Amino acid sequence: MNTTLRWGLIGASTIAREWMIDAIRSMGGDVVSVMSSDRDRASAYADANRIPHATTSLDELLEKVDAVYVSTTNELHHDQVLRSARAGRHVLCEKPLALTVGEARGMVEACRALGVVLGTNHHLRNAGTHRAMREAIAAGRIGRPLFARVFHAVYLPAHLQGWRLTNPGAGAGVILDITVHDADTLRFVLADDPVEVTAMSQSAGLSQGEVEDGAMGAIRFSSGVLAQFHDAFTTAHAKTGFEVHGTDGSLIGTDCMTQKAVGDVLLRTASGEELLPIDRTNLYERSVARFAAAVAGDGEPAATGDDGVWSLAVAAAALESARTSRAVAIDPAQPTTKVSQ
Ligand code: NDP
Repeated sequence: MNTTLRWGLIGASTIAREWMIDAIRSMGGDVVSVMSSDRDRASAYADANRIPHATTSLDELLEKVDAVYVSTTNELHHDQVLRSARAGRHVLCEKPLALTVGEARGMVEACRALGVVLGTNHHLRNAGTHRAMREAIAAGRIGRPLFARVFHAVYLPAHLQGWRLTNPGAGAGVILDITVHDADTLRFVLADDPVEVTAMSQSAGLSQGEVEDGAMGAIRFSSGVLAQFHDAFTTAHAKTGFEVHGTDGSLIGTDCMTQKAVGDVLLRTASGEELLPIDRTNLYERSVARFAAAVAGDGEPAATGDDGVWSLAVAAAALESARTSRAVAIDPAQPTTKVSQ
C-alpha cells in the first residue's frame, strides 16, 4: 500500500473534520491542502485541523497532491471530480457522486479513460457488521435470501441542518443523503443488483419546500429479493438496523447503519441463535486504506465509481417513484458494470 499519499481536501466540510482527516492520517497519508470557496473559512479550517496549506483555487490545490477527497455539497462533485481527474489526481468522492446518473456515469468513464482511481465513500460496506452479513449469506447460512429490511431513520443533528433540508440545487433531501447508502449496502450484502424501485416520501416540517425529510420504499433485486427501506432526518428515537431473511435463517443487524464501528448481528436458524463475530475496524479508515491500496495498484476501492453510479441510480429511481406514484425500473444500461465484489 502507498502510505505516503499526499491528499487534498476539496471542501471544508464537517465529514472531513469529524472523520476523514483522522482516517487519512491514521492510514499514513498526509493532508497537505484544503480548498474552500471562502478564503477565511479555508484558513480557519486549515488552522483548526493542522493542514499546512489553504486555498480557494482548485488548480492550486491540485498542484500539491496525489489524491483528492471531494466532500463539497453534491452539485459540485461532478465538475470537481472531472477537473481533478484531468489533472491526473486520484479521487475519493462523497456520495451521491452527482445529481444525475448520467453525470455520475460520465465521471466514472472519465476517470477510467484518464487512468485515475475513482472511489465512492460509501462507508457502510466497510462496517464489520455488513461484511459479516455478506459472508454469512455467501456461505449459505440463511439459505436463499428472500427479503431485506433497512432501518435508517435518524435525526439530522442540529449542526447539519443546512443545505440538506433547504437547497434542492445542492442535492438536498433524505433520499440523496441516506437512501443512496441503503442501496449500496444492500448491493454489497446481497451481492445482487437492483432492478426496480417504488417509494413514497414525506416532508414532516424539518425540511423546507419540496425537499423530503422522510421516505419509505421497496427495491426488487435481480434474484427476486425484495428490500424495504425507511429513511428519515426526523426520528430522534428510532434504532437503526439491517436485516436479511432467507429460506433457512435470518440475519438481524442492529445499530449498524451508523458511522461508528458498533452494532451486532444475530443469526437465527433452526439450530438457535448466535451473535456473529464482528471486526470493529473504523469504517472510514478501511475506506481510505482500500483507496490507497487501489492507487498503489492493489485491488479496487471498497466502493468503486461504478458502485456510486448504482446507488445514485436507486436514489434517482426512488425520487422519481415518489414524484410519480409508480414503480421505476433501474435501467441496466445506465450503471456500467455488475455489482463489484
Ligand atoms: P457540510 O455542510 O459540513 O459541508 C459542505 C460544504 O458546506 C463545505 O464544502 C463548505 O463549503 C460549506 N460549509 C461548511 N461549513 C460551513 C459554514 N459554517 N458556513 C458556510 N459554509 C459552510 O457537509 P457535510 O460534511 O455534512 O457533507 C459533505 C458531503 O459529504 C456531502 O456530499 C454529503 O453527502 C457527504 N457525506 C457523507 C457521509 C458519509 O459517511 N459517507 C457523511 C456525511 C456527509 P466550502 O468548502 O466552500 O467552504
